[in-house]
Amino acid sequence: MNRASQFDAIIIGCGIAGASLAYFLAKRGMTDILILEREDQPAYHSTGRSAAVLVEMDLIPTVLRLKLMSAGFLRNPPEGFCENPILHQNGILVLFQGELWEQARRAVPVLKQGGADVGLLSPSEAVSLVPVLLPENSSGALHLPMDGHLDVHELLWSYLRHARRAGARLSLGEEVKGIIVEQGKCVGLTAEHGEYRAGRVVNAAGAWAGKIRAMAGSSSVSLTPKRRTIITFDPPEGLEVSDWPLTADLSHDLYFSPESGGLMASPMDEAPMAPCDARPDELTIALTIERLKQLAPRLVPKAVTNKWAGLRTFAPDQALVVGEDPELKGFFWLAGQGGCGIETSPAVGRIASDLILDGRTDRMDVGPLSPGRFMDI
Ligand SMILES: Cc1cc2nc3c(=O)[nH]c(=O)nc-3n(C[C@H](O)[C@H](O)[C@H](O)COP(=O)(O)OP(=O)(O)OC[C@H]3O[C@@H](n4cnc5c(N)ncnc54)[C@H](O)[C@@H]3O)c2cc1C
Repeated sequence: MNRASQFDAIIIGCGIAGASLAYFLAKRGMTDILILEREDQPAYHSTGRSAAVLVEMDLIPTVLRLKLMSAGFLRNPPEGFCENPILHQNGILVLFQGELWEQARRAVPVLKQGGADVGLLSPSEAVSLVPVLLPENSSGALHLPMDGHLDVHELLWSYLRHARRAGARLSLGEEVKGIIVEQGKCVGLTAEHGEYRAGRVVNAAGAWAGKIRAMAGSSSVSLTPKRRTIITFDPPEGLEVSDWPLTADLSHDLYFSPESGGLMASPMDEAPMAPCDARPDELTIALTIERLKQLAPRLVPKAVTNKWAGLRTFAPDQALVVGEDPELKGFFWLAGQGGCGIETSPAVGRIASDLILDGRTDRMDVGPLSPGRFMDI
């Protein structure tokens, strides 16, 4: 075998997960890395289709921890990391009604303790921030003024630029076809242009991560891709929307936010489906308009200017799956990012690189992320 087909690590998938891991591995000195991506460009799937926000709130404690650990990097990236700011702090406003509001209020001390800047707003204070809201629709809101929109393109390409300068190779348009297992250990893979061997094979294949693992036999990790839809539209004439926070109503399952001079909205849909190039359907688009009618009738658009859908891929407990496969040495999971893969990428990339290079990390208890956690279920 020639030297070019032997690597320290091979990463399958060039979305935010694969790119961030390559960056953090390279920063720690592992630069003999190959990233294989089936599409002709990075971020064609989930990473390029997200709502692109940092929200330091989550029902899953491990995911919340990862968001809080990542926020500093996203607000103040290391010197020389990027050419433009990653985070635009237009804020996040989350509306609640009834019992959900009581639960949200109880969660505030935990969020504050973790370092999130979060305020409680009355319905009329929420309306003063986003004047199209109807005060009778909510009991109150949480406001996170330091969070907001992420420039995913800038973040992804900054990770990749640094990793490639350090020596990482990226092969686009090259699909992984098989996993090579020898004496019970993963030692490489077969792909479109040949066979590659490595000390570690990293599964960062997003919605396809389950299929990649299945190439080496059955697994105790089960992942479900779920579709989420976004539409864009023009704001009503005369309304200045560009400085609005992303506004989410968890009682009516809707969020909307400024997007490229207009607005975008999502009905927070979660239809499970097989991994695919996800497309929006008409019914879900109609549902989005219906929910806008209830929550912010002034925003109901005359026309939808754009629409797209992407897959958010979840483990059964909705936490990420990061670590070596307990049944297949040399095979490393970096999957199950669900709806938070962009905003958690700094912490998750660092943790994954620690686990690959040291076999452990001091950054947090990784038991709740471990692929082995499903073995006893
Ligand atoms: C509508 C929507 C809104 C979202 N909003 C947010 C948000 O506001 N904030 C946030 O943090 N996250 C958000 N997310 C979630 C976020 O987009 C994902 O968690 C994240 O992009 C997952 O990244 P990934 O690299 O794991 O997957 P992907 O970006 O899907 O990358 C996986 C890559 O693996 C490649 N691949 C698969 N199989 C193979 C193979 N056999 N060979 C080679 N390559 C292969 C694929 O082509 C793909 O490019 C949202 C997602 C959606 C859909």
